[in-house]
Amino acid sequence: MKKIYDVVIVGGGASGLLCASALSKKFKIAILEKDTRIGKKILATGNGRCNLTNTNMSSKYYNQNIDTYLNKFNSLNTIKYFNKLGLLTYADNEGRVYPTSNSATSVLDILRFSLSDNVSIFCEKNIQNITKNDIFELKTDKNEVFYAKKIVYTCGGNSLHEIENLHKDLIPFKKSLVSLRTDYNKFLNNIRVSDIKATLKLNNQEVVERGEILFKDNAISGIMIFNLSSYMARINNYEQNIVLDFLPDITEDKLYTILTDRQGIQYLTKENCLTGIFHSALCKNIIDKINNDTQNINKLVRFIKHYNIKTYAPLDNNQVFSGGVSLHSLKNSLESIYNEGLYFAGECIDVDGICGGYNLQWAWTSAYIVANDINNNL
Ligand SMILES: Cc1cc2nc3c(=O)[nH]c(=O)nc-3n(C[C@H](O)[C@H](O)[C@H](O)COP(=O)(O)OP(=O)(O)OC[C@H]3O[C@@H](n4cnc5c(N)ncnc54)[C@H](O)[C@@H]3O)c2cc1C
Repeated sequence: MKKIYDVVIVGGGASGLLCASALSKKFKIAILEKDTRIGKKILATGNGRCNLTNTNMSSKYYNQNIDTYLNKFNSLNTIKYFNKLGLLTYADNEGRVYPTSNSATSVLDILRFSLSDNVSIFCEKNIQNITKNDIFELKTDKNEVFYAKKIVYTCGGNSLHEIENLHKDLIPFKKSLVSLRTDYNKFLNNIRVSDIKATLKLNNQEVVERGEILFKDNAISGIMIFNLSSYMARINNYEQNIVLDFLPDITEDKLYTILTDRQGIQYLTKENCLTGIFHSALCKNIIDKINNDTQNINKLVRFIKHYNIKTYAPLDNNQVFSGGVSLHSLKNSLESIYNEGLYFAGECIDVDGICGGYNLQWAWTSAYIVANDINNNL
């Protein structure tokens, strides 16, 4: 006799696990995970610390207006939810929330431990095909079959081929929160600058980010660059010009005066005219880059305040994918408008945010909304 689960969750990542923990304890639930263990990606988040949400929460940090969903489950709900499960958290001065253990393992452990005995976890179940007659039938790549009354699809970014026969309106995935390929940059190669301003001019929008940047031989990286990449992903065009300002708190005029005055200081010779302003590696690189022409103050100011860098393409280290199931094709409960009983949560939906806990917040928000709807309707 075939075993029919009340709910099958496809994908044991952040959204799949929170959904399983929020579903009623009376349901028979299966989590089908293609990897050898659940929640692997959670362990990699926040450099192993898991930045699980942000206290500064609003739609402006996302590619979509998701107020309707955040009104149902926002960052405060997330903190309360995890606190109730047993996870203590703290927020840093930018609102980023971490477990007090500073270990992503705690987040995964708490989610795992919170699951009821009615939740069965099956790893190495790579779902390849899903069909529906009266109930859903899910087939793995090894032809094992699972049956379910309802499905929550939480396979993350760059997935969805398993679902194409059941749902339309799938927006192609694009890499977001990613390092960007640039021209070969032998001058600034391997230099890390902690506070820089970057301006990206898109068609009708100017995006300004400030923070740390890492120059590699032909790429740029860092949270600020990741955030800019998210705007490029939205228009699927990574060929852009970014203007860097190495001294964002000093105006051009002020810098001109400072550099002119320094010409009168004897020990600040041609080679070390920037000493005391930047760290030594950056001083040397800037001076090299302007061909030692340090007497030319205009040239120096232009370099420091308006360094142009052209980006070409994303690398492969993206933290999320932009794109996925269009919100327009989902009810407010995140159930498919095409197929009753088919729900989506997490990154597979076309919602993505910038760095800072926003993407996990979407995973928790969407998963909670789905669980709540199933609890009320099954
Ligand atoms: C290095 C890194 C660091 C990050 N740090 C942060 C951070 O600090 N804060 C933050 O907010 N966000 C962060 N993110 C983003 C965050 O991890 C994702 O937004 C979040 O994990 C999405 O959750 P999800 O459940 O939708 O997908 P996932 O967590 O990706 O889970 C999807 C699961 O589905 C499984 N799966 C896929 N296909 C199938 C299939 N066919 N059959 C069965 N199972 C399948 C996958 O193996 C996976 O376990 C980071 C991402 C990366 C890569």
